[in-house]
Amino acid sequence: MADIDLSCVGKTFAGTPALRDITTRFEDGEFIALLGPSGCGKTTLLRILAGFEAPSSGQIRIGTREMANAETGANLPPEERNIGFVFQSYALWPHMSVRRNVSYPLEIHRFSKAEITRHTDAALASTGLEAYADRMPSDLSGGQRQRVALARCLVSDPCAVLLDEPLANLDVALRATMQGVFTDFHKRTGATMVYVTHDQAEAMAMADRIAVMDQGRIQQFDTPQTLYERPKNRFVAEFVGRGTVVPVQEFKQDGSAQRARILGAEVDVQSAQQSARVSHACLRPENLTISESGDLRSKVARVTYMGGKYLLETVTDCGASLFAETRARFEVGAQLGLTITTPWAFSEE
Ligand code: ATP
Repeated sequence: MADIDLSCVGKTFAGTPALRDITTRFEDGEFIALLGPSGCGKTTLLRILAGFEAPSSGQIRIGTREMANAETGANLPPEERNIGFVFQSYALWPHMSVRRNVSYPLEIHRFSKAEITRHTDAALASTGLEAYADRMPSDLSGGQRQRVALARCLVSDPCAVLLDEPLANLDVALRATMQGVFTDFHKRTGATMVYVTHDQAEAMAMADRIAVMDQGRIQQFDTPQTLYERPKNRFVAEFVGRGTVVPVQEFKQDGSAQRARILGAEVDVQSAQQSARVSHACLRPENLTISESGDLRSKVARVTYMGGKYLLETVTDCGASLFAETRARFEVGAQLGLTITTPWAFSEE
């Protein structure tokens, strides 16, 4: 079992906290994304899991093994953690062929020749690299190099694979293809994967659960769908997906019905809370319907074609900027009626 357990993990660099009190668990075989803005602590968390940094406080376990414990000073080096790494820079050995790059970890661990050939062939086959086995890394494309890095992980049969923005150097089309390669790799190996990215589309496409981080803390750790539909606070609502956070006036719970006054309109809402603490709602494009009799008057400020539909950025009479989607084309300056449909409401934390 390779559950990863973090208990009260903190990291301080020269007195400045980069991670604060992280307590969480990544389940065996999960594909986890660490998502957040630049400087939120994603890479620091990954480096601590890898053993490249020691935590300033707290404890980390993988399976039943303690990896690091700030109290006792224990900190296993990376090579003793049985973890695979995939970096943005590929980190391949430039003077070795593809086959040798992949087989080298087995050579170090003194596997027999027959075993090395068997494991290496299997890893090359499952990453689609058989035809490139004799090439040097310099003769490969970025996507192919990243496949070699994955194949190298595969031969070592790691209990977890840590990936630090592995697609950041690739063009948009190749990124999409490589997302498929990573998810196939995950399905095939069943390894626990922890994937750092600041690209939410990438995280949404691949991860079972996403830890959204800000200022060294995990703000919310949930499935992509839950993060989008039921954000816990303003940061997550604004960071994940498109939407506008607006104040809620007069939240009312009547049996299972939840109502609130939003931008002057009385509407149904959904919330995990049942109290007067509900203070804000997130209006996503799906929560706004264009209709002449709509609750709000709004003026189109920008139109973006999204392939089959248009994204309208509109400004209401009271100055709120709201996004709506439509198949019909509208001109900039057009006046619309907008009806609010059951947005998600939460309390400001
Ligand atoms: P990015 O997406 O830009 O890579 P990140 O979320 O991965 O950002 P980290 O690299 O983990 O962020 O950095 C978190 C904070 O810790 C930042 O404020 C950073 O400046 C600081 N930091 C990271 N490494 C060190 C270090 N070795 N020495 C001092 N400060 C550091």
